[in-house]
Amino acid sequence: MSHSFGFYLYSQNDNKHFVFWNDNDAIISRIASMVDLVPKIVGGNVTALLQKNDELMNVLHRLFDEFLGAYPRLKRIFAYLDKLGQDEEFFYVSSDAPLINHLTCIAQLRCIDDSNERKEVHDYILATWGFVSVKYESYGFGFNGIRKCIGVAKDRVCRFCGKQEGQVTFHKIAHAIPEALGNKLLYCNEECDDCNENYLCGDVRTKEC
Ligand SMILES: [Zn+2]
Repeated sequence: MSHSFGFYLYSQNDNKHFVFWNDNDAIISRIASMVDLVPKIVGGNVTALLQKNDELMNVLHRLFDEFLGAYPRLKRIFAYLDKLGQDEEFFYVSSDAPLINHLTCIAQLRCIDDSNERKEVHDYILATWGFVSVKYESYGFGFNGIRKCIGVAKDRVCRFCGKQEGQVTFHKIAHAIPEALGNKLLYCNEECDDCNENYLCGDVRTKEC
């Protein structure tokens, strides 16, 4: 049972990830059902091309009026849309969508105003990555410039010492790949502060033995 609903918005100047949590699944389902009502140029509930126009904004305002009190974070969506030009097109991609959906949208942003070229790019990405994505489960980060975290943000458990939130703290930002190797976007929610500080030392000591 899911307690969260999330999606990405990709436009020519800004990419953002939106996630909404609630202990009440009915509320999460209700927020997710908004996607059905949003007018789309093409696409559906997993990936869609949207346009910032009066029709879209009216639908969003009507729907969000119901939740803005309980969900102030919904305002982030309006802040994102405020930065788009009138009639600007942008992509919606569900957080549950496979990597290839994200790749096709990011690639199409280069020619978002030209539907013919957009289709060519879309088909090209599908042709080159499609087989791989069907055959293998694939993960990616960095291609959309959005920070990604491995593991859940609530009720964390350290993957190194096995201790839970409460037994240890998780205040420090843990890089999944060392920052010294150039990683600025992939983080890990499953590394406690103690292990963050001591893991490398322990590893080195082991090798010396
Ligand atoms: Zn730990």
